[in-house]
Amino acid sequence: MPDIHPPIEPFRIKAVEPIRRPARPERQRALKAAGFNVFGIPAEKIFIDLLTDSGTSAMSDAQWAGIMRGDESYAGARSFFRFEQAVRDQFGFAHVIPAHQGRAAERILFEGLVKKGDFVPSNIHFDTTRANVEVRGAKAVDLVIDEAYNPDSDHPFKGNMDIAKLKGFIARRGRAHIPLVMLTITNNSGGGQPVSMENIRQVSAVCRKARIPFFFDACRFAENAFFIRQREKGYGKKSVALIAREMFSHAEGATMSAKKDALVNIGGFITLNDAELAKKLKNILIIGEGFPTYGGLAGRDLEAIAQGLSEVVDEEYLAYRTGQAAYLGALLDRVGVPYFKPVGGHAVYLLADRMLPAIPREHFPAWALTVALYREAGVRSVEIGGVMFGSKDPRTGKPIFPQLEMVRLAIPRRVYTVSHLGYVADALGSIAAKKTKVRGLRIIDEPRFLRHFTARFEEI
Ligand SMILES: *Cc1c(COP(=O)(O)O)cnc(C)c1O
Repeated sequence: MPDIHPPIEPFRIKAVEPIRRPARPERQRALKAAGFNVFGIPAEKIFIDLLTDSGTSAMSDAQWAGIMRGDESYAGARSFFRFEQAVRDQFGFAHVIPAHQGRAAERILFEGLVKKGDFVPSNIHFDTTRANVEVRGAKAVDLVIDEAYNPDSDHPFKGNMDIAKLKGFIARRGRAHIPLVMLTITNNSGGGQPVSMENIRQVSAVCRKARIPFFFDACRFAENAFFIRQREKGYGKKSVALIAREMFSHAEGATMSAKKDALVNIGGFITLNDAELAKKLKNILIIGEGFPTYGGLAGRDLEAIAQGLSEVVDEEYLAYRTGQAAYLGALLDRVGVPYFKPVGGHAVYLLADRMLPAIPREHFPAWALTVALYREAGVRSVEIGGVMFGSKDPRTGKPIFPQLEMVRLAIPRRVYTVSHLGYVADALGSIAAKKTKVRGLRIIDEPRFLRHFTARFEEI
């Protein structure tokens, strides 16, 4: 078997946060008490937490220094102007509007643009953009290329928009009912897969021709730019910061969750060129989030975001960051655990139905794998399958399952080392070796909406 080169952490550790691995009987009790739902397990009882990469990044010494420097003036704080400049430097748009996190930025943008009966196309909407479009009585439409749903295709840009579908959709619905087109970079709900510069250019051209504004959901813009550098012809020698600027030059604006590629624990923003729209959005901001120079954040948060945005485009950092996900994938190949290929930027997605073929879809193989992984090793992951996205046929009552039955191992930024990843891969290898022992589950209690957060289960 060839050697797998682990990515080297381009930092040394200055502060540590102890973690504890509960013994197996304690893990067993925690699972029972939580109704076999890892969302219900207190974080203290988790050894390695791969639930999400959102808001879980480790900040740098320079970011912590920024926290101390934060200017908490209500209006016109120094920290705001630093933040505004940092966003302008990376994104290149004229106006910058802070918000407390990504979904607040989305809510404000859509309140300014979207009305009842509209359609908002994207490659794949993230849950919060979909919810914020649909709460306005509009429809969120996914127009990603077909390869996005094929876990075995090695297409380098599975996040791409299907240009023919986009053109067809605009022709069918008419531009009057399409207030904006979005592109999620990287495509989180499609496995953290990147969008190519060529595709961005094409989406931009289609939108310009139809006179429809084009916005990015830019949460992982640096990871996307790094994949372009690695995979797209002509970009191998360009800096990630320049590639990002080129990406953004094709759009009117972007929404951003700073909890992702701004390397902080809370925050978000909207940035755009249209002065009239910016004015309108700032008025909406004041009602729900706060004055336009803080938008629901403390001055110290704005400092940390400004610093994070300059650190996230560092190529050494991004090589390590995307290298961690690739490395975990390579370790899983060794122990025969199947996953969605190619590995995305922020996570590895396990193909649970292939790994546990004896468990029928009705008994939720991906959910069973999250339970098995906690029981085996104290590792928390998240199901993206029949529990999260399943539904019932309203007429027959028969269950409808999503195409893919996956478990996501999301990797927090700068938090875990290569040996932590090795531990996770070993645990999955052990589960694969005794997979007939993994039990399916049935739901014994579920809420009406977003059931994966609070549903309770029993093992079969
Ligand atoms: C996290 C995320 C959001 C929402 O951001 P929050 O800060 O969690 O509100 C929107 N889009 C994408 C692609 C995300 O990953």
